[in-house]
Amino acid sequence: MPPVALVTGASRGIGAATARGLASRGYDLALTYERAAADAETVAASCAAHGVKASIYQLDVADESQVERLFAQLDQDFGSLDALVNNGGITGPSCRLEELKGDTLAHVFAVNVFGSMICAREAIRRMSTRRGGRGGAIVNLSSAAARLGSPNEFIHYAASKGAVDTFTLGLARETAEEGIRVNAVRPGLIETEIHASSGLHDRVERLSPMIPMKRAGSAEEVAEAVCWLLSDAASYVTGAIIDVAGGR
Ligand code: NDP
Repeated sequence: MPPVALVTGASRGIGAATARGLASRGYDLALTYERAAADAETVAASCAAHGVKASIYQLDVADESQVERLFAQLDQDFGSLDALVNNGGITGPSCRLEELKGDTLAHVFAVNVFGSMICAREAIRRMSTRRGGRGGAIVNLSSAAARLGSPNEFIHYAASKGAVDTFTLGLARETAEEGIRVNAVRPGLIETEIHASSGLHDRVERLSPMIPMKRAGSAEEVAEAVCWLLSDAASYVTGAIIDVAGGR
């Protein structure tokens, strides 16, 4: 049986590149999108071209009941789950903390932190050898923002990714004896639509000269690290947080 992976936020950017990377490695895929159904269909079709199963599902990770329904559906559609990539995430609008709206803060944490943790909970219930599962691997998408703090732009987002790092460390140790590995990837400045979504359309061009490698990274460069962490090649790696940030 091929391994089965769930990738949240796979309609574009890092999630789409990860989906394609996993498809090329033979994973059957459950891919979620929040709004971009047509983009998700395109990604699924490019994955299916590798001869794997690739199904798409609408999901707002911030909604616990939607997450629970999705996992119940995956039980029916795939029967097992070997890998979870907690990728779906948002920055919220860019602002200084003194301008931050409480709603923005709540929504960013609901998506990036609560959503990832609830997805991890559902995955562990299925993967844990203590519960009759066959083990598995989880990769959380953190951000270099977790250690940079993102002053003047996204302190709210950076803090949410700090929480992702912390929950990665705790969950890795909590489940290490149950056949589950939990790791995180911290991308730096990566060329995706997330910057324009936050209102900062020229962010990649503006910040690229400040990166030690003098360029932004690609979604594929991040996906490589995610795919490696999920693979058996990383069988002794858990609780690791890997920077993919061009030296930043
Ligand atoms: P994009 O903005 O390109 O894509 C975001 C993805 O997340 C989309 O598929 C989107 O779905 C999905 N999504 C958005 N909101 C929700 C939600 N409420 N529930 C479920 N899915 C949702 O982002 P990137 O590819 O750039 O980022 C992917 C991850 O990497 C994020 O966690 C981000 O924080 C992290 N990251 C990115 C960096 C970068 O520079 N790009 C740097 C550091 C970390 P849809 O399109 O259907 O709405």
